[in-house]
Parts: sequence; C-alpha cells; structure tokens
Amino acid sequence: MSRAIGVLAMEHIAVGLVEDGALAGPVRVYPPLGSPSVGLHAMPPEQIAEAIRTEIVAAAGGLGVDAVGIGFPGIIRGGVVQDSPNLRQVKGFKLQATLASMLSPAVPVHVLNDADAVAAGIAAKRGHLGELIRVWTLGSGVGYGRYPATDGIWEGGHIVVTLDPREKYCGCGGVGHLEGIVGGRSMRLRFLDREPDEVFTDAKAGDERCAAFVTTWHRALAAAMATSVHLDGPGRLFVAGPNARFVDLHPLDRYLHEMVTLSPVQGSSIEIVEAGDETAIVGAAVHAERAG
Ligand SMILES: [Zn+2]
Repeated sequence: MSRAIGVLAMEHIAVGLVEDGALAGPVRVYPPLGSPSVGLHAMPPEQIAEAIRTEIVAAAGGLGVDAVGIGFPGIIRGGVVQDSPNLRQVKGFKLQATLASMLSPAVPVHVLNDADAVAAGIAAKRGHLGELIRVWTLGSGVGYGRYPATDGIWEGGHIVVTLDPREKYCGCGGVGHLEGIVGGRSMRLRFLDREPDEVFTDAKAGDERCAAFVTTWHRALAAAMATSVHLDGPGRLFVAGPNARFVDLHPLDRYLHEMVTLSPVQGSSIEIVEAGDETAIVGAAVHAERAG
C-alpha cells in the first residue's frame, strides 16, 4: 500500500493522508475554520512552511509516509516558488528544500503548481493516470493545470486570446489575457454595476451587452483550449472551480471545433468537473508518489 501526504496551500492550507490514490482520513485545514489566525497572505514564508510541516506531521498520525506533495499557487520550478501573485512574499522561496529539511525522518517532498495538483487529482479519481489531462480552474483568477506535470512555466491562464488593446483587465496587468476576460476579478472590473452572476443571468434575459460578453467569454475559453490542443495535442479537457457554473458546454464545444480543424488534433472532449480541496490533495500526493 502506498501512503503519501497531499497538501494544498492557497489562502488556507488543506492537508490529507492519501492511501493508494484516495483520501484516507479527514482533511485538516489551517487556520481552522472560524479561528482568528491570519491567512497565508499575511505570513512570512518560513511561517507558512512551519504551518505546512505541523499539518503534515498531524495528518501522518505518527506513521511513515512515502512522499509529500504540495500544490502551491504560482510559477513553481525545481521546488522553488518563482512567483506567486497572491502570496507575493513567497517569491523566490525554496519551499521544497525548506520543508524537506524540516521533516524527520526524511521524506521526498515535491512542490507543484496548485492547478497541476487539481489535474493530477482528476486523473487519479477518474482512472486516467495513463492519459494527458488538462484543467482550467475558473475563479477570481484562471488557473491552468496539466497532468502529468512537466517542467516549465505553463501559465495557461495568461494565454493571449485577443489582440484588442482595450482588453487589459487581467490581474497580472498583461493585455489580451484569458484571465482578463474569464476571471471573476476581471468581470467585476468590466461590469462595475453588476456581479458576474447577474451578467450571465441578464444575458439569458436578452441584455445585449451581457449576451455579447457571454459569447466572448466562451470564445476566449475555447481559444485557450484550442491553443493548448495545437501545442499539446487533443485529449480530455476539464473545467473546474467556482465559476465553472457559468460554462455552457454546447457553444464552448462548437467554438473549439471551429478553432481546431486539422485532423491530427481532432477528438478532444470538454467536461465540467467538481474539484475541491480534496481533489488537489489527492493530486499532489499522487504526483509526489509518481515523481519518486
Ligand atoms: Zn495575465
């Protein structure tokens, strides 16, 4: 039996024990729900590492584990957080090496992008570990995850989907980005008078501006998927996250097929999937086990 610890670090830390690719205990959350402790955004990197270590030790329950996997937001290369827009203080932090040095007895530690952990979790939970899995996580920002995770930048949420110079709502400041159209934060900046939910509801009710935007929203997501398919090949494409509820699969699929016409890249499927903390925890653990 394989035993690994999966960790998801975002505004909070969620940790669980994973046995043979499935969660085998409660998900531990730090700070605990309702506690007055500050979130990760206000903690120095060393304190974040210490909080993660404490939860790992507790989740292991005194028994040995084969590996520890940590899903962390941002650009992660070689176990180093190269950038993390929502946790800026962690930029440059050697999270993998720091945590490995804190754990005794020694356990292999692997840090990967949080969306890559979601992709690995989807692959594990659905029995697709032998396949290429891609996931777009739609929330305030837009994450892009790939399983198997490979070295690189892979900031798919910031892929350019329009040449319109007025499209500058992305959280990173870049012009024409997917997140600048599809991300929740950017939708609030675009429609100062309406919440994203209202935009989608008003579009259905016949509001022209909202309807035009909802079309653009789906075409932007399709464009990002088409680019991914043209670079990485066809396969299973998933949409997850709180704003996946806005996705209308029928037009999305049609736009993708309009954008992808070469026969070797045909045959992708798009699916909406529930992927909470548990999926990312399982994915981080499975990734770490397979990374050895
Ligand atoms: Zn961007």
